[in-house]
Amino acid sequence: MDVIVIGGGIAGIATAYQLHAAGHRVCVVERHATVAQGATYGQGGALLPSPLDVWFGPTFMVSSRSKQSGMAVKTGFDAAARDFLKQLATLRDPETFAAQYAHLQPLVDASRREIASIEGRLELDFEQRRGMLHVFRQPRELEEAQPAIDLLKGCGVPYRVLTPEECVAVEPSVPDYPEFAGGVLLPEERTGNCPLFTKQLKQVLEDDGVQFRMHRAVASVRLEGARAAVELANPNEGKKRHAEVELITADAIVVAAGVGTPGLIGGIKSAASLFALRVHTLTAPVAYEERAPHLTVVDSIKRITMTRVSQRLRVAGAGVFQSASKADKPLDATLSRRALDILGQGTHDWIPGAARVSVARPWEGLRLISADGLPIVGATRHPRLFVNAAHGPAGWGLACGSAKVVADLVSGVTPDLPADTLAALSVERF
Ligand SMILES: Cc1cc2nc3c(=O)[nH]c(=O)nc-3n(C[C@H](O)[C@H](O)[C@H](O)COP(=O)(O)OP(=O)(O)OC[C@H]3O[C@@H](n4cnc5c(N)ncnc54)[C@H](O)[C@@H]3O)c2cc1C
Repeated sequence: MDVIVIGGGIAGIATAYQLHAAGHRVCVVERHATVAQGATYGQGGALLPSPLDVWFGPTFMVSSRSKQSGMAVKTGFDAAARDFLKQLATLRDPETFAAQYAHLQPLVDASRREIASIEGRLELDFEQRRGMLHVFRQPRELEEAQPAIDLLKGCGVPYRVLTPEECVAVEPSVPDYPEFAGGVLLPEERTGNCPLFTKQLKQVLEDDGVQFRMHRAVASVRLEGARAAVELANPNEGKKRHAEVELITADAIVVAAGVGTPGLIGGIKSAASLFALRVHTLTAPVAYEERAPHLTVVDSIKRITMTRVSQRLRVAGAGVFQSASKADKPLDATLSRRALDILGQGTHDWIPGAARVSVARPWEGLRLISADGLPIVGATRHPRLFVNAAHGPAGWGLACGSAKVVADLVSGVTPDLPADTLAALSVERF
């Protein structure tokens, strides 16, 4: 079949890989001049999420104050944004959280298998590192995380709950003063450079004959008749009266367009179902080698991830919840400063002296996140339209497993996931 994939982030490129592997002719359309320029560019490195990493559950935004939660909330009177946060808050209940995470776990497992298969086949070096240490400041925070720690047992992911002394012993860059409550070590969980992986995979696909239409934006998806089509526009000509428009047709279309996805697939009934969340990173050179962490350190409550990538440290987090109408406008300077301060403080608290934060390169970007914490993966009501998007904070590895699910569905093969997981990931839930 001829399949068009919209989006050149990790979700689009991984989907193109799986479709190509399944024998389809694939064309990827990306509005930027190169791949991995959206959320994929900014990601913090964690390859696969554990119950401690997802941006929902017992510890996520328990406090409404940005200093404690690691997030800034400026939704104002925007009813949809407030509703979105209320829905996420219902997932703090331990039983609701466990039930929702149970839907995600098979996708995490499938993603682990797919990444291993790609690594085994292509032998890519994308700066992989092993070992993640979640740290908790207050004893109450560690208690609040207990439902997520309990879930680790059922995930088959090796882990150890550590005292503060044990945390410092496994990761000497974490200071023993001021006191903290302890941590959870995930010794086998990995980080990697997602943009590098995405670019390497694109190169492999291009060499194998996959077509890339770069610097072309999909203006709309047309689903009439026997074949589907996308209307392409040159992003630079968008505002011209006689902008050049091109129509390309295919047997199937996969939308993996990050925050651009809802506008292309349509049919999302509630404005409070999906949110374009602004997230930040600081990339700083290592300051002192002996103070730089060899494990990825995560401030588990504030969801700040501090990852060593070669000679740099990548600090990611500081989500900003604001009115949806502000998503496509530059962030207010005060709010931007506050978000970057949250990341700088996280670095100062947990890996002091490791990074030269004063010369760090800041970055901010939007990632699509759903109100029930799960991505949108699979078929739509239209038999020729499929989706791989809304991975929120966990799209790096998850997008790879989701890509296999989508490729199976396009090929008419039943994906190797439980039916309730497929239903929980379906766009039909919205
Ligand atoms: C600061 C930050 C830290 C993160 N940390 C982690 C982490 O540690 N671990 C993890 O797993 N995940 C993390 N994430 C999330 C992860 O990066 C995303 O889930 C993932 O990159 C999403 O990939 P994507 O391909 O769906 O979206 P994107 O990377 O945004 O790609 C979508 C692409 O579609 C293109 N596009 C959109 N509309 C159109 C159109 N109309 N026509 C043509 N092209 C279009 C865009 O230009 C873009 O290139 C983080 C994200 C951020 C921002």
